[in-house]
Amino acid sequence: MRKTLIAGNWKMNLTVTEAEKFFKAFKIQKKEGTELLFCPPFTDIPIARFFLDRSSIRWGAQNVYPEEKGAFTGEISAPMLKDLGCSYVICGHSERRQILGESDEFVARKVKAVLENDMIPILCVGETEEERKEGQTEERIGSEIRTALFALSKEETAKMVIAYEPIWAIGSGQAATPKDAEEIASFIRKTVKEAAGKKAADEVRILYGGSVNGDNISHFLKQKNIDGALIGGASLKPDTMIDIYNKA
Ligand code: PEP
Repeated sequence: MRKTLIAGNWKMNLTVTEAEKFFKAFKIQKKEGTELLFCPPFTDIPIARFFLDRSSIRWGAQNVYPEEKGAFTGEISAPMLKDLGCSYVICGHSERRQILGESDEFVARKVKAVLENDMIPILCVGETEEERKEGQTEERIGSEIRTALFALSKEETAKMVIAYEPIWAIGSGQAATPKDAEEIASFIRKTVKEAAGKKAADEVRILYGGSVNGDNISHFLKQKNIDGALIGGASLKPDTMIDIYNKA
């Protein structure tokens, strides 16, 4: 039985002062079977920990550097995130792939480092609008997933979360249809099965991300292969995130 995951990705938003205000306003009634996660910027992780420590809500990071320590100015390692109590780390968000030029191979190293430090990677995959029009969606996503899983054991793969985030749907207000998202989620599960076997494919959690809000969340969560959502813009407002969690 896969546990639903509702994950907020704050991206580069909210100062420590603003994050403090957010968490003071964020009150939920815990629901069994649904996990809630916030991935704030690195600078807000200690404040997230302060507010969420004695709750059921988890916190994580939006990125990691694959080496443990050393001369990597400006970077943050997986042991550093683990020490801050992070449970999850987003790896290979399309903004990092596109703006910072992260390759599938580099993302794969991050996924491995996160697992080796007892945290759960949220591997983001997704196609551009052009790739979608050209019918290359499965080719792109298949390759992103196969590269990320290449160096993992079946047990490691089973622990992962894979977020299907069509790039054209991120921050655009134009979400994929639940039917289209389910079709790709099913393809992702099939790809995991081919790479790591049935048990891993049955256990891996698949999220949909891209303009999710309080109005469309229920439609995505009704789909057989969609186990939750990765939420950007809508996760920045306490009321909207509470609404999404309550509907999950
Ligand atoms: C994201 O940043 O992962 C995302 C899905 O953003 P949004 O919900 O704003 O489309």
